[in-house]
Amino acid sequence: NKEIQLVKRPEAAPTHEHIKMVETERPVPLQGEVLVKLLYVSVDPYMRGRMSAAKSYIAPFQLNEPMEGGIVGEVVESNADTLQEGDIVTGMLPWKEYASAPADTLRKIDPSLGPVTTSLGILGMPGLTAYFGLMDIGQPKEGETLVVSGAAGAVGSAVVQIGKISGCHVVGIAGSDEKLAYLKNELGVDEVINYKTESVPDRLEETCSNGIDIYFDNVGGDISDAVYPLLNKFARIAQCGAIASYNVPNDQGPRMQMHLIKSSALIKGFTVGDYQDRFTEGFSHLAQWLQEGRLKYEETITEGFENIPDAFFGLFEGANLGKQLVKVAEP
Ligand code: NDP
Repeated sequence: NKEIQLVKRPEAAPTHEHIKMVETERPVPLQGEVLVKLLYVSVDPYMRGRMSAAKSYIAPFQLNEPMEGGIVGEVVESNADTLQEGDIVTGMLPWKEYASAPADTLRKIDPSLGPVTTSLGILGMPGLTAYFGLMDIGQPKEGETLVVSGAAGAVGSAVVQIGKISGCHVVGIAGSDEKLAYLKNELGVDEVINYKTESVPDRLEETCSNGIDIYFDNVGGDISDAVYPLLNKFARIAQCGAIASYNVPNDQGPRMQMHLIKSSALIKGFTVGDYQDRFTEGFSHLAQWLQEGRLKYEETITEGFENIPDAFFGLFEGANLGKQLVKVAEP
């Protein structure tokens, strides 16, 4: 039974020197537990934070213990009344080919809602993050200008579409022309900016001729520095992520305070867990839009348990379009 452990905490970008693949015994499920064969593993930018020892909203990974995250798996042995062999479930499990867990920490997936992988993407944590960050903090109104950084990723690609559904003029920022083409041609984004090849301040001026009312920020760094001067009166900023800073120790930048004062803007950081009590509401909107064809999604699926680390590292290089997953086994 292979598992992937954290063996060293990264200072900058995570690499193979920080993790190790280890062979261990297949666990035996105790009373109330099930044994799960992992089928799909989600790799997510927030896991970078858990590799560090710093205090955060979620506990650090322990050294010489497996990393963990969202998975879809098949119950192959059950010692619980609520789940049976063959059930397809989702939850948080360690990166082990086979892992055991209390049955009540897992949720059985309803396959009629979409492919099982969507429970890790558009109908899972990233989709809910997009929904609540935009609807609750962004408060989008018809005709407003919404700028989204990290626009072609799991969260961003949902945000731009919910922005369009809400009647906004949507400007998406991403790191490749292929991603820009996807945003424009497939998702109906109004304007797109390649932050690697274009001047972001110049292009924002061009594409946001009425200023910026909402900024959904997945990235932070230089891109955000270019957004602040263009904020309109009473703009809202949903601070979702800051991936540009995750691998940069002691990252510093220009000051934003004066821009916030001048625009009377509201900036609010959040984690999707803040909205736990409202997940059913978010989920039902996402599922409905998906069914109506108003919401699309893309998944980048890497194959093989041993390739989980590379898929994770790839997030920091922009290797993924939409949600990055790893397929580790067939049901
Ligand atoms: P994505 O699918 O968006 O993958 C990460 C993307 O970030 C890459 O594809 C890359 O796209 C972009 N990126 C990587 N490095 C940089 C950089 N230095 N500067 C600019 N862009 C970069 O991941 P998610 O959708 O899962 O997450 C997006 C953000 O939202 C992350 O910051 C994450 O931490 C945060 N998040 C927050 C949650 C919350 O509860 N607050 C929940 C989920 C996610 P490109 O090619 O465009 O560079």
